[in-house]
Amino acid sequence: MKLPSYREMLAALVAAPSVSSTDPALDQPNRPVIDLLAGWAESVGARVEIEPVDEARGKYNLLATLGEGESGLLLGGHVDTVPCDPDRWHSDPWRLREEGGRYYGLGATDMKGFFPLVLELMARVDAASLRRPLVLLATADEESTMAGARLLDGVRLPASHAVIGEPTDLAPVFMHKGIMMESLRLTGRSGHSSNPALGVNAIEGMHEVIGALLHWREQLAGKWSDERFEVPVPTLNLGVIHGGDNPNRICGECELQFDLRLLPGMDLAELERDLARLAADAVAGTGLKMELQPLFEGVPAHRADPDGELLQALVELSGRPAKSVAFGTEAPFLAGMGLEAVVFGPGSIDQAHQPDEYLEISRTEECRTVLAGVVERFCTRGPEAGRRAGHG
Ligand SMILES: [Zn+2]
Repeated sequence: MKLPSYREMLAALVAAPSVSSTDPALDQPNRPVIDLLAGWAESVGARVEIEPVDEARGKYNLLATLGEGESGLLLGGHVDTVPCDPDRWHSDPWRLREEGGRYYGLGATDMKGFFPLVLELMARVDAASLRRPLVLLATADEESTMAGARLLDGVRLPASHAVIGEPTDLAPVFMHKGIMMESLRLTGRSGHSSNPALGVNAIEGMHEVIGALLHWREQLAGKWSDERFEVPVPTLNLGVIHGGDNPNRICGECELQFDLRLLPGMDLAELERDLARLAADAVAGTGLKMELQPLFEGVPAHRADPDGELLQALVELSGRPAKSVAFGTEAPFLAGMGLEAVVFGPGSIDQAHQPDEYLEISRTEECRTVLAGVVERFCTRGPEAGRRAGHG
């Protein structure tokens, strides 16, 4: 089978809905997208493995490998999209529209537009000339829980370097912050407001907790800072508060939700422990019950080696300096498995998660050229270059 054109592949990928959401009413299987990619990958001679992530919900990861051996180059990312409101689009979000040098469609920029480029590269290289494998990875649920990337931990990846094709405007991205989102609930006892002794006021307790959180935020900013980020310090935002129902009733229950954006080096589990201790201390002796609950599992911050071989290759080939971004990606999960992981893709984050999401066609052409150069350096060049590109 001949590989369809870039446009045909992107149109088919966009037409296969793959919304992921923590809201079960919006969540969709990603299997149709996985099957499309698997079919194309097989047609160019790759070995295809489909790994279940959550079969009940129809979620799968795909690994397609061309060539033999270890320490190859992995190109990939997620195939799910965010939910969308078709009424806010000027055309059907699931039908690719080409206009003014752009491809419009849900997921075009974030990040279905990356996969046809990888498949084209796979079709172009002679598998026999590969010194190291070329691997396509497609994951589930990046936009909701990162379940697909979390699952990779148990999978053997024949790669030592990874390009995650998230929208970066073709700038090589080696750093991003991590994120955790928490719910903190205080339960006291309601009672008539005329006598404070009749209850335990959860809003007053929350006042203490908020004071402690803001103090902790200052301490964190004093301890952690990296000028390479637009906002150099970790941030903590108080986003939601609910409590009480009546001015003349002692508030029996109060919930606060906040997020924390952490810098590379800050550990999710350790922060979670510090938070629990700080909140418990803030309400100690008040009789309030405190529950701290993550709203999702959290995404670690990412920092790849600034002198890393893949990063340097992408800087050279793209002509753009390495930079940091403000959004989270699957890169830290691959880095956790020992791969050098760099985020680099043709889309723009400004168009991601927006009505009328689009991808500049000229960017796909530029991306194709850069990736071809990377594949040449890491997979197909002579043995000496191959050794340089490997670990060690
Ligand atoms: Zn994305």
